[in-house]
Amino acid sequence: MSEKILLVEDEEKLARFVELELVYEGYQVKKAADGREGLALFEAERFDLILLDVMLPGIGGFEVLRRIRKTSSLPVIMLTARDAVMDKVAGLDGGADDYVTKPFAIEELLARIRTALRKQTATTSLQVGQLSIDPARRTAKYGETELDLTKREFDLLFALMESHGIVLTREVLLDRVWGYNYQGETNSPDVYIRFLRGKIDEAFGVKYIHTVRGVGYVLKEG
Ligand code: CA
Repeated sequence: MSEKILLVEDEEKLARFVELELVYEGYQVKKAADGREGLALFEAERFDLILLDVMLPGIGGFEVLRRIRKTSSLPVIMLTARDAVMDKVAGLDGGADDYVTKPFAIEELLARIRTALRKQTATTSLQVGQLSIDPARRTAKYGETELDLTKREFDLLFALMESHGIVLTREVLLDRVWGYNYQGETNSPDVYIRFLRGKIDEAFGVKYIHTVRGVGYVLKEG
């Protein structure tokens, strides 16, 4: 079964080009020319991923993203002509999975799509000590207690659990969790590691998340 992508893009030529490439790669594609149409399609049909332009007439891309995130953790890749750090921060804080700046090489966009879909379709539950994570349902538990994690915290915990016992560098975490060539704040992993520690190690009086000074982080029991 091929994956279905919603493409919300008002530049007709670009939209048609991307659609052709995606169809050629075997994806099903539905196009929307503005935010309102995009939201209507999102509500009416089931998609596996959304490509969302930032600069849209009417309801802008960030507002569309905000409304989608109220009900869905579907992967969203933002497209923009602007390479402003502010846009990236706004998009990622708003829950976008990735960010592609126009003009982009189609191969780059396809790679980002594959990465986002792979993250989403991971279905194997993982267990490390008392910690367990269910990527299909996007839930994580310590013992029987469900953890209240943001999307980013969940993705970070998943990456750590997937490679438990292995030290992950900041760069690897940025790549796996943030999923794009991060230009801005490279201390994001440190910030989110702190959040996770608060919700796991500190909350339960245990030590799972270890710092390897000068290298990165590793998740292991004790
Ligand atoms: Ca546009």
